[in-house]
Amino acid sequence: MPPLPAEPAPGAQARDPLDLATVRTGGKRAVARALAYVETARGRPDLVALLDAAARSGRAHVLGLTGPPGVGKSTLTNALVQRARAAGQTVAVLAVDPSSRRTGGALLGDRARMKTDPDDRGVFVRSMAARDRLGGLSDDSIAAVVLLRAVYDLVIVETVGVGQSEADISLVADTVVLCIQPASGDSLQFMKAGVMELPDIIVVTKADMAEVARRAASEVAGALSLSGSGAHGWTVPVIRLSAATGEGLAAFEAACASHRAHLDADGRRAALRAEQEEKWVEEAIRVRFGTHGLARARRLMPGATTPFAREAEVAARLTSGQD
Ligand code: GDP
Repeated sequence: MPPLPAEPAPGAQARDPLDLATVRTGGKRAVARALAYVETARGRPDLVALLDAAARSGRAHVLGLTGPPGVGKSTLTNALVQRARAAGQTVAVLAVDPSSRRTGGALLGDRARMKTDPDDRGVFVRSMAARDRLGGLSDDSIAAVVLLRAVYDLVIVETVGVGQSEADISLVADTVVLCIQPASGDSLQFMKAGVMELPDIIVVTKADMAEVARRAASEVAGALSLSGSGAHGWTVPVIRLSAATGEGLAAFEAACASHRAHLDADGRRAALRAEQEEKWVEEAIRVRFGTHGLARARRLMPGATTPFAREAEVAARLTSGQD
Protein backbone atom coordinates (compact mmCIF):
# COMPACT_ATOMS: atom_id res chain seq x y z
CA MET A 1 0.00 0.00 0.00
CA PRO A 2 1.35 3.50 -0.74
CA PRO A 3 2.14 5.72 2.26
CA LEU A 4 -0.92 7.44 3.62
CA PRO A 5 -1.19 11.10 2.68
CA ALA A 6 -1.40 13.79 5.31
CA GLU A 7 -4.82 15.24 6.04
CA PRO A 8 -5.10 18.54 4.16
CA ALA A 9 -6.16 21.61 6.08
CA PRO A 10 -9.93 22.11 6.46
CA GLY A 11 -11.39 23.87 3.46
CA ALA A 12 -8.38 23.14 1.28
CA GLN A 13 -10.34 20.69 -0.83
CA ALA A 14 -13.40 22.77 -1.45
CA ARG A 15 -11.84 24.08 -4.64
CA ASP A 16 -10.29 20.79 -5.76
CA PRO A 17 -11.93 18.75 -8.49
CA LEU A 18 -13.61 15.63 -7.19
CA ASP A 19 -11.78 12.98 -9.17
CA LEU A 20 -10.63 9.57 -8.02
CA ALA A 21 -7.00 10.64 -7.51
CA THR A 22 -8.18 13.45 -5.22
CA VAL A 23 -10.37 11.09 -3.22
CA ARG A 24 -7.51 8.60 -2.91
CA THR A 25 -4.88 11.07 -1.84
CA GLY A 26 -6.98 13.56 0.10
CA GLY A 27 -7.30 11.65 3.34
CA LYS A 28 -10.50 10.97 5.25
CA ARG A 29 -11.87 14.43 4.60
CA ALA A 30 -11.80 13.86 0.84
CA VAL A 31 -13.51 10.50 1.25
CA ALA A 32 -16.18 12.06 3.48
CA ARG A 33 -16.69 14.81 0.93
CA ALA A 34 -17.09 12.26 -1.87
CA LEU A 35 -19.66 10.33 0.17
CA ALA A 36 -21.58 13.53 0.89
CA TYR A 37 -21.52 14.22 -2.83
CA VAL A 38 -22.97 10.76 -3.49
CA GLU A 39 -25.91 11.66 -1.27
CA THR A 40 -26.60 15.03 -2.85
CA ALA A 41 -25.52 14.95 -6.49
CA ARG A 42 -26.86 11.69 -7.89
CA GLY A 43 -26.80 11.74 -11.69
CA ARG A 44 -24.40 14.73 -11.97
CA PRO A 45 -21.91 13.98 -14.77
CA ASP A 46 -18.80 14.50 -12.60
CA LEU A 47 -20.18 12.15 -9.94
CA VAL A 48 -21.09 9.57 -12.59
CA ALA A 49 -17.52 9.77 -13.92
CA LEU A 50 -16.06 9.47 -10.43
CA LEU A 51 -18.19 6.43 -9.58
CA ASP A 52 -17.41 4.69 -12.86
CA ALA A 53 -13.68 5.34 -12.38
CA ALA A 54 -13.97 3.91 -8.87
CA ALA A 55 -15.97 0.90 -10.12
CA ARG A 56 -13.19 0.11 -12.59
CA SER A 57 -10.51 0.22 -9.92
CA GLY A 58 -12.15 -1.54 -7.01
CA ARG A 59 -9.10 -3.13 -5.49
CA ALA A 60 -10.38 -3.89 -1.99
CA HIS A 61 -11.93 -7.10 -0.88
CA VAL A 62 -15.47 -6.36 0.27
CA LEU A 63 -16.63 -8.34 3.26
CA GLY A 64 -20.37 -8.18 3.89
CA LEU A 65 -21.50 -9.00 7.42
CA THR A 66 -25.19 -9.58 7.90
CA GLY A 67 -27.35 -11.00 10.66
CA PRO A 68 -30.01 -10.06 13.17
CA PRO A 69 -29.57 -7.17 15.62
CA GLY A 70 -27.52 -8.08 18.69
CA VAL A 71 -25.79 -11.05 17.08
CA GLY A 72 -22.39 -9.37 17.50
CA LYS A 73 -21.68 -7.85 14.07
CA SER A 74 -20.24 -4.56 15.29
CA THR A 75 -18.14 -6.28 17.96
CA LEU A 76 -16.77 -8.55 15.24
CA THR A 77 -16.20 -5.60 12.92
CA ASN A 78 -14.23 -3.84 15.66
CA ALA A 79 -12.05 -6.90 16.15
CA LEU A 80 -11.49 -7.30 12.40
CA VAL A 81 -10.56 -3.63 12.02
CA GLN A 82 -7.95 -3.86 14.80
CA ARG A 83 -6.47 -6.98 13.26
CA ALA A 84 -6.40 -5.59 9.73
CA ARG A 85 -4.68 -2.40 10.98
CA ALA A 86 -2.14 -4.47 12.90
CA ALA A 87 -1.43 -6.31 9.63
CA GLY A 88 -0.86 -2.97 7.87
CA GLN A 89 -4.09 -2.90 5.87
CA THR A 90 -6.29 0.17 5.55
CA VAL A 91 -9.96 -0.45 6.30
CA ALA A 92 -13.29 1.21 5.66
CA VAL A 93 -16.47 0.25 7.48
CA LEU A 94 -19.92 1.07 6.17
CA ALA A 95 -22.72 0.30 8.60
CA VAL A 96 -26.13 0.31 7.00
CA ASP A 97 -28.45 1.44 9.71
CA PRO A 98 -32.14 0.61 9.36
CA SER A 99 -33.12 3.04 12.11
CA SER A 100 -31.15 6.15 11.24
CA ARG A 101 -32.80 8.68 9.01
CA ARG A 102 -31.03 10.33 6.12
CA THR A 103 -29.95 13.21 8.32
CA GLY A 104 -28.98 13.00 11.96
CA GLY A 105 -28.20 9.91 13.94
CA ALA A 106 -25.47 8.68 11.63
CA LEU A 107 -22.56 10.39 13.33
CA LEU A 108 -23.75 9.38 16.74
CA GLY A 109 -24.05 5.84 15.46
CA ASP A 110 -20.46 5.86 14.22
CA ARG A 111 -19.17 7.04 17.56
CA ALA A 112 -21.26 4.70 19.60
CA ARG A 113 -20.45 1.60 17.62
CA MET A 114 -16.80 1.82 16.71
CA LYS A 115 -13.82 2.03 18.99
CA THR A 116 -11.38 3.32 16.42
CA ASP A 117 -8.74 5.96 16.89
CA PRO A 118 -10.04 9.13 15.21
CA ASP A 119 -6.47 10.10 14.33
CA ASP A 120 -5.80 6.84 12.49
CA ARG A 121 -5.88 7.77 8.81
CA GLY A 122 -6.06 4.11 7.81
CA VAL A 123 -9.57 3.57 9.17
CA PHE A 124 -12.73 5.16 7.85
CA VAL A 125 -16.08 4.49 9.50
CA ARG A 126 -19.42 5.67 8.28
CA SER A 127 -23.02 4.70 8.78
CA MET A 128 -25.71 5.31 6.22
CA ALA A 129 -29.44 5.00 6.31
CA ALA A 130 -30.95 1.85 4.91
CA ARG A 131 -33.29 1.88 1.94
CA ASP A 132 -36.17 0.98 4.24
CA ARG A 133 -36.81 -0.16 7.77
CA LEU A 134 -35.87 -3.71 6.86
CA GLY A 135 -32.22 -2.80 6.37
CA GLY A 136 -31.95 -3.03 2.58
CA LEU A 137 -29.14 -1.27 0.75
CA SER A 138 -29.91 2.10 -0.79
CA ASP A 139 -28.41 3.22 -4.10
CA ASP A 140 -26.30 5.66 -2.09
CA SER A 141 -24.86 2.85 0.03
CA ILE A 142 -23.96 0.92 -3.11
CA ALA A 143 -22.20 3.98 -4.52
CA ALA A 144 -20.43 4.49 -1.19
CA VAL A 145 -19.06 0.94 -1.28
CA VAL A 146 -17.86 1.49 -4.84
CA LEU A 147 -15.90 4.55 -3.70
CA LEU A 148 -14.55 2.98 -0.52
CA ARG A 149 -13.32 -0.14 -2.24
CA ALA A 150 -11.31 2.02 -4.65
CA VAL A 151 -9.55 3.74 -1.74
CA TYR A 152 -9.05 1.23 1.09
CA ASP A 153 -7.55 -2.27 1.20
CA LEU A 154 -10.47 -3.87 2.99
CA VAL A 155 -14.10 -2.76 3.11
CA ILE A 156 -16.50 -4.17 5.68
CA VAL A 157 -20.19 -3.58 5.07
CA GLU A 158 -22.52 -4.34 7.95
CA THR A 159 -26.23 -4.78 7.34
CA VAL A 160 -28.96 -5.75 9.74
CA GLY A 161 -30.69 -8.77 8.39
CA VAL A 162 -34.39 -8.79 9.09
CA GLY A 163 -36.27 -11.23 6.92
CA GLN A 164 -35.27 -10.94 3.27
CA SER A 165 -33.10 -7.83 3.43
CA GLU A 166 -29.99 -9.98 3.97
CA ALA A 167 -30.06 -10.67 0.25
CA ASP A 168 -29.09 -7.07 -0.50
CA ILE A 169 -25.61 -7.56 0.91
CA SER A 170 -24.80 -9.73 -2.09
CA LEU A 171 -25.24 -6.63 -4.28
CA VAL A 172 -21.89 -5.34 -3.02
CA ALA A 173 -20.02 -8.02 -1.07
CA ASP A 174 -17.33 -10.25 -2.51
CA THR A 175 -17.69 -12.48 0.52
CA VAL A 176 -21.06 -12.68 2.28
CA VAL A 177 -20.86 -13.61 5.94
CA LEU A 178 -24.05 -14.54 7.76
CA CYS A 179 -23.78 -14.14 11.54
CA ILE A 180 -25.92 -16.34 13.70
CA GLN A 181 -26.54 -16.07 17.40
CA PRO A 182 -25.94 -19.19 19.46
CA ALA A 183 -29.08 -21.15 20.28
CA SER A 184 -31.38 -18.46 18.93
CA GLY A 185 -33.22 -20.73 16.53
CA ASP A 186 -32.18 -18.27 13.81
CA SER A 187 -30.78 -20.95 11.55
CA LEU A 188 -34.21 -22.54 11.22
CA GLN A 189 -35.74 -19.16 10.41
CA PHE A 190 -33.02 -18.48 7.86
CA MET A 191 -33.53 -21.84 6.24
CA LYS A 192 -37.25 -21.17 5.90
CA ALA A 193 -36.61 -17.74 4.40
CA GLY A 194 -34.19 -19.18 1.85
CA VAL A 195 -31.39 -17.11 3.35
CA MET A 196 -29.13 -20.12 3.77
CA GLU A 197 -28.33 -19.99 0.06
CA LEU A 198 -26.75 -16.56 0.44
CA PRO A 199 -23.65 -16.76 2.59
CA ASP A 200 -20.15 -17.77 1.59
CA ILE A 201 -19.23 -18.14 5.25
CA ILE A 202 -21.44 -18.70 8.27
CA VAL A 203 -20.28 -17.41 11.62
CA VAL A 204 -21.72 -18.53 14.93
CA THR A 205 -20.92 -15.67 17.30
CA LYS A 206 -20.19 -15.58 21.04
CA ALA A 207 -18.32 -18.89 21.11
CA ASP A 208 -17.29 -18.04 24.67
CA MET A 209 -20.82 -19.09 25.56
CA ALA A 210 -19.38 -22.50 24.78
CA GLU A 211 -22.17 -25.03 25.00
CA VAL A 212 -24.81 -22.96 23.22
CA ALA A 213 -22.37 -21.94 20.48
CA ARG A 214 -21.51 -25.56 19.77
CA ARG A 215 -25.16 -26.45 19.61
CA ALA A 216 -25.85 -23.57 17.23
CA ALA A 217 -22.93 -24.59 14.99
CA SER A 218 -24.19 -28.13 14.58
CA GLU A 219 -27.75 -26.86 14.06
CA VAL A 220 -26.42 -24.62 11.27
CA ALA A 221 -24.33 -27.37 9.71
CA GLY A 222 -27.50 -29.51 9.63
CA ALA A 223 -29.51 -26.73 8.03
CA LEU A 224 -26.82 -26.22 5.41
CA SER A 225 -26.71 -29.84 4.40
CA LEU A 226 -30.50 -29.74 4.01
CA SER A 227 -30.39 -26.61 1.87
CA GLY A 228 -27.53 -27.89 -0.28
CA SER A 229 -25.65 -24.61 0.11
CA GLY A 230 -22.37 -23.84 -1.66
CA ALA A 231 -22.44 -22.54 -5.22
CA HIS A 232 -19.64 -22.75 -7.83
CA GLY A 233 -17.63 -25.40 -6.06
CA TRP A 234 -17.36 -23.51 -2.79
CA THR A 235 -18.18 -25.31 0.44
CA VAL A 236 -19.63 -22.93 3.01
CA PRO A 237 -17.64 -23.15 6.23
CA VAL A 238 -19.37 -22.73 9.59
CA ILE A 239 -17.04 -20.92 11.99
CA ARG A 240 -17.57 -20.47 15.70
CA LEU A 241 -15.87 -17.40 17.01
CA SER A 242 -15.82 -15.00 19.88
CA ALA A 243 -15.02 -11.41 19.05
CA ALA A 244 -14.85 -10.84 22.81
CA THR A 245 -12.03 -13.35 23.49
CA GLY A 246 -10.51 -13.55 20.00
CA GLU A 247 -11.20 -17.28 19.74
CA GLY A 248 -11.87 -18.35 16.15
CA LEU A 249 -10.89 -15.01 14.58
CA ALA A 250 -7.79 -16.46 12.90
CA ALA A 251 -9.91 -19.32 11.52
CA PHE A 252 -12.43 -16.79 10.25
CA GLU A 253 -9.73 -14.75 8.52
CA ALA A 254 -8.35 -17.94 6.98
CA ALA A 255 -11.85 -18.76 5.64
CA CYS A 256 -12.11 -15.24 4.18
CA ALA A 257 -8.68 -15.64 2.55
CA SER A 258 -9.75 -18.99 1.05
CA HIS A 259 -12.91 -17.48 -0.34
CA ARG A 260 -10.92 -14.61 -1.75
CA ALA A 261 -8.55 -17.07 -3.47
CA HIS A 262 -11.59 -18.99 -4.74
CA LEU A 263 -12.95 -15.77 -6.30
CA ASP A 264 -9.59 -14.87 -7.81
CA ALA A 265 -9.44 -18.22 -9.61
CA ASP A 266 -11.12 -18.68 -13.01
CA GLY A 267 -12.24 -15.04 -13.21
CA ARG A 268 -14.97 -15.55 -10.62
CA ARG A 269 -14.48 -12.14 -9.02
CA ALA A 270 -14.81 -10.31 -12.34
CA ALA A 271 -17.93 -12.33 -13.16
CA LEU A 272 -19.42 -11.64 -9.73
CA ARG A 273 -18.75 -7.91 -9.95
CA ALA A 274 -20.15 -7.71 -13.50
CA GLU A 275 -23.31 -9.42 -12.26
CA GLN A 276 -23.52 -6.99 -9.34
CA GLU A 277 -23.15 -3.99 -11.67
CA GLU A 278 -26.10 -5.22 -13.74
CA LYS A 279 -28.18 -5.41 -10.59
CA TRP A 280 -27.15 -1.91 -9.43
CA VAL A 281 -28.43 -0.40 -12.66
CA GLU A 282 -31.67 -2.38 -12.44
CA GLU A 283 -32.21 -1.47 -8.80
CA ALA A 284 -31.51 2.21 -9.37
CA ILE A 285 -33.95 2.30 -12.28
CA ARG A 286 -36.58 0.34 -10.38
CA VAL A 287 -36.32 2.69 -7.37
CA ARG A 288 -36.73 5.78 -9.57
CA PHE A 289 -39.12 4.54 -12.24
CA GLY A 290 -40.85 1.54 -10.67
CA THR A 291 -41.21 -1.93 -12.15
CA HIS A 292 -42.96 -0.50 -15.19
CA GLY A 293 -39.97 1.80 -15.81
CA LEU A 294 -37.62 -1.11 -15.37
CA ALA A 295 -39.54 -3.10 -17.97
CA ARG A 296 -39.21 -0.15 -20.37
CA ALA A 297 -35.51 0.12 -19.53
CA ARG A 298 -34.97 -3.55 -20.35
CA ARG A 299 -35.97 -2.84 -23.94
CA LEU A 300 -33.35 -0.09 -24.27
CA MET A 301 -29.88 -0.74 -25.60
CA PRO A 302 -27.77 1.86 -23.82
CA GLY A 303 -24.45 2.81 -25.36
CA ALA A 304 -22.61 3.22 -22.07
CA THR A 305 -20.79 0.16 -20.79
CA THR A 306 -19.94 1.38 -17.29
CA PRO A 307 -22.68 1.00 -14.67
CA PHE A 308 -23.18 4.56 -13.46
CA ALA A 309 -23.05 6.06 -16.96
CA ARG A 310 -25.53 3.40 -18.08
CA GLU A 311 -27.85 4.23 -15.20
CA ALA A 312 -27.65 7.95 -16.04
CA GLU A 313 -28.26 7.29 -19.72
CA VAL A 314 -31.22 4.99 -19.15
CA ALA A 315 -32.69 7.40 -16.57
CA ALA A 316 -32.36 10.31 -19.00
CA ARG A 317 -34.06 8.36 -21.77
CA LEU A 318 -36.90 7.21 -19.54
CA THR A 319 -37.38 10.75 -18.23
CA SER A 320 -37.50 12.26 -21.71
CA GLY A 321 -39.71 9.48 -23.02
CA GLN A 322 -37.19 8.44 -25.69
CA ASP A 323 -37.56 4.75 -25.10
P1 GDP B 1 -24.84 -6.19 16.50
O1 GDP B 1 -26.16 -5.56 16.81
O2 GDP B 1 -25.01 -7.42 15.67
O3 GDP B 1 -23.85 -5.25 15.93
O4 GDP B 1 -24.26 -6.73 17.90
P2 GDP B 1 -23.18 -6.10 18.89
O5 GDP B 1 -21.80 -6.28 18.35
O6 GDP B 1 -23.60 -4.72 19.24
O7 GDP B 1 -23.30 -7.07 20.14
C1 GDP B 1 -24.54 -7.27 20.85
C2 GDP B 1 -24.23 -7.72 22.26
O8 GDP B 1 -23.54 -8.96 22.24
C3 GDP B 1 -23.34 -6.75 23.01
O9 GDP B 1 -23.80 -6.67 24.33
C4 GDP B 1 -21.97 -7.39 22.92
O10 GDP B 1 -21.17 -7.05 24.04
C5 GDP B 1 -22.32 -8.87 22.94
N1 GDP B 1 -21.27 -9.65 22.26
C6 GDP B 1 -20.76 -9.42 21.04
N2 GDP B 1 -19.79 -10.31 20.74
C7 GDP B 1 -19.71 -11.13 21.82
C8 GDP B 1 -18.90 -12.27 22.12
O11 GDP B 1 -18.03 -12.71 21.36
N3 GDP B 1 -19.13 -12.88 23.32
C9 GDP B 1 -20.07 -12.46 24.19
N4 GDP B 1 -20.23 -13.14 25.34
N5 GDP B 1 -20.84 -11.38 23.95
C10 GDP B 1 -20.66 -10.73 22.78
